[in-house]
Formats: sequence, structure tokens, C-alpha cells
Amino acid sequence: MFKSAYLQRVYAEVSQRYKDQPEFLQAVEEFFDAMDVLVEKEPNIEKYSIMERIVEPERIIRFRVVWTDDSGKIQVNRAMRVQFNSAIGPYKGGIRFAPNVNESICKFLGFEQTFKNSLTGLPMGGAKGGADFDPTGKSDQEIMTFCQSFMSELYAHVGPNYDVPAGDFGVGAREIGYMFGFYKKIVNQWNGVFTSKGIASGGSLGRSEATGYGVCYFAQEMLRAYRNDTFQGKRVIISGAGKVGWMAAQKATELGAKVVAMSDIKGVIHDENGIDLGLILRLQKQSPAVMDQYRQTHPEAIFNPDPKSIWTIPCDIAMPCATQNEIYLPSAEALVKNGCWMVVEGANMPTTLDATRYFVDKGILFAPGKAANAGGVAVSGLEMSQNAMHLNWTFEEVDAKLKQIMAGIFKKADEASMKYTGTHNLVIGANIAGFMKVYQAMLEQGTL
Ligand code: GLU
Repeated sequence: MFKSAYLQRVYAEVSQRYKDQPEFLQAVEEFFDAMDVLVEKEPNIEKYSIMERIVEPERIIRFRVVWTDDSGKIQVNRAMRVQFNSAIGPYKGGIRFAPNVNESICKFLGFEQTFKNSLTGLPMGGAKGGADFDPTGKSDQEIMTFCQSFMSELYAHVGPNYDVPAGDFGVGAREIGYMFGFYKKIVNQWNGVFTSKGIASGGSLGRSEATGYGVCYFAQEMLRAYRNDTFQGKRVIISGAGKVGWMAAQKATELGAKVVAMSDIKGVIHDENGIDLGLILRLQKQSPAVMDQYRQTHPEAIFNPDPKSIWTIPCDIAMPCATQNEIYLPSAEALVKNGCWMVVEGANMPTTLDATRYFVDKGILFAPGKAANAGGVAVSGLEMSQNAMHLNWTFEEVDAKLKQIMAGIFKKADEASMKYTGTHNLVIGANIAGFMKVYQAMLEQGTL
């Protein structure tokens, strides 16, 4: 628990008020852990009730989504948008479609997004939203009908200088296209209200690669600064083979690493020859989860239907890129026992708090998601700039800016950690560096 009596009191209040929101409380606890070294040095945090204010979303919009499926049956889903913090810019963050979407998950994601967006250095506040809608197995027509109904409510609460959603789990260029198209029709304006759009609709080149590539650029900075090293010859394992994991695997391979294992909900593939990324992409054209089919082409590979088993495969670097809370303490212990010395989070909060503390205690180089996976939203910020200026940058221009932003995030997080703890603790450093700008803006803007 925290040493600061102020943090203890605020956390006790928050955990009492939101006792049914475990993911949100976990995100707040990780953040308060990092704030412990800061609050006594910054008395204005308590004086201006910054912690009490920062843990409450500025606004939550809830609505129902009614739509008709292909059989003519009327369906109802629940949706929300959590507009967490707009101190440093318009609300910004993805939309998630998944059966488990609820207030706890949207609030944890929106809270993390606030500090992640701040770390990018771009003027973006924090938000997240979603619906408990499961896109798997739905037809194109059903997806479009759902997205249009979803937007018939959300359109009133978003805008290019107000709230700019993007994709997340279950929401890709197709869903964004349908939502953007419907918004445009209703407000009768073309503007940059969404990011991660398709290229023809005004999306940015390099956006679909950005999160995964950014994870590797961040890891590269850690390797260089802490070990005078590179990806060359490193054994890497990556959970998740979706947008983030696949792109991270491709970039890590390009930088000289060997990705020996990947996973999805069907299971884990362990291939000592290095994962055949082209095959995964081809298989994914038929269905999103494909690991059980990999051995038909590569019989020498090993398949294990338990996704968690990936953490028992020996590696140098582990990159959890699937979902929240996928590395519990026993998996963390197995990773360290088998020689893993670096963990870079590509997903949002994939490591539980006790597993994170374990990695840090063992001296593992650990990059928290809010720093390492910020490349996606950073390029979303660049998409907003391009839309506002009515121009497009080349892939190379965007990629160069992404590299620069990721190096900047690493530097800010490392410097904040050195300043407040005298160590290279990127969990503490990223939280403090992300918080400082939001805090400053909140002080400047008075008690609202
Ligand atoms: N959902 C992504 C994230 O977790 C991207 C958000 C965005 O581009 O707005 O950062």
C-alpha cells in the first residue's frame, strides 16, 4: 500500500465507491503506487484535490443500441463513452466492441489513456468507449447496422475538437468506416472526428502499423540505453496475433529478432524456425483465431491449446499484446525462471499488479503499456493534424515521427524515474511523466 496518508484516504474512498470495478481499481492502484514518491514533493496535488478529481471521469454517456440482425430479430446492446479528462486536449481514445465491455473496463482504459496520451506530447485528452456487442460471426450487414445505430446516439457527443474516437478490440477500419460514414451523413460535415480511418476516407498512412511498431521502437530505446544492445539475435515471444501483436512481430523480425512463439484464443504456436507471419495473415483471411491450423503447413511447430502456456516458453523478451490481465504471478515467475529479462507491454494493462511488482523486484526491464503502446494513439494524433491541415504525410514521414515520439516517451519516463526514485523504474517514470502535464493544465484551468 501507499506510504502517503493522502493517497491512502483517496484510494479507500475510490475503492469503496467503485468496489464492483476491479479493472478500474487496479489501474488506479498502479497509478497511486507511482504517485507515492511525488505527492509529498508536490503539496499542490493535495491542496487542490487533484487525486480526487483525476480519478473521476468528467462525463460518462450511456445509451442503448437497438439493431436488427439478418434473421429479422431485434437486438439490444448497451454502450457507453467515458470522457475521462480533457485538461490537455479534446477527449481521445478507442472504441471497443466485446461481450465483456462494462463501466469498469471503459473507465480503466479511459484513465490509462489520459496519461498515455499526455506522454505522446500531443494535445489529446483521455477517453474510451464501447459496447457489449460481439462482432465475431456477424455478417457485414449486421456490423454496419450495429455501427449506424451506435452512431445515431454517439454523434451528438463527439467532434474533431470535442471527442475523437478510434478503434480498439473488435473495432477496425471496417467499423470505423461505417461509424464515420454515418456521422458524416448526420452532421453533414467532413471532419477528423475519427482516427484509424481507411486511407481513402482520410486515414493516416502508418496508423495500422503504429502500435506494434511503436512497441518495438520503445523496446529498442530500452535495449540501447540499458544494455547497449539491439534486437539482433533475441528470442521474442508475443501473445496476441491481432493488430498489435502481428505488427510487433513483423518489426521485431525486421530488426533481427527471432519470434519463436505467438498465440491467440485458439492456443499457442511455438516454432523454433521463427513464426511464419505470412501464413498467419493468410489464415486470418478466413477466421480471426488461427493458431490451431498452423501445423498443417509447419508440422515441426508445437501447438498448445492453452493461451497461457506461451509464458513457459524460454525467451529473452516477452511482449504481451493480447488483453488486460493476461500475465498473472505464476506466469511471471515462469518467464523469469526460463531466462526472460525484458517485458514490453503492447496491450493495455496485460500484467497484474503483483506480477508487475515481481518483475520490477527481479530487475527485469519492464515497459508499462501506457508508455510502450502509445504509438497507436500517437499516430492517431498525427492523423488529426493531417485532417485539420487537409494534407497527407507519406508513410516514411509518419514512421519517422512515430520513432521520434517513442524515443521521447522513453526519455521522459526514464528521466522522471531517475529524478524521483534514482532508479530506472519505467512504471513509476511513465505514470509521473504522463501525470505532470495533465496536473499542470488542471492547475492552470482552475477548479472545474
Ligand atoms: N485503442 C488504442 C489505444 O489503446 C488507440 C486509441 C486511439 O488511437 O485513439 O491506445
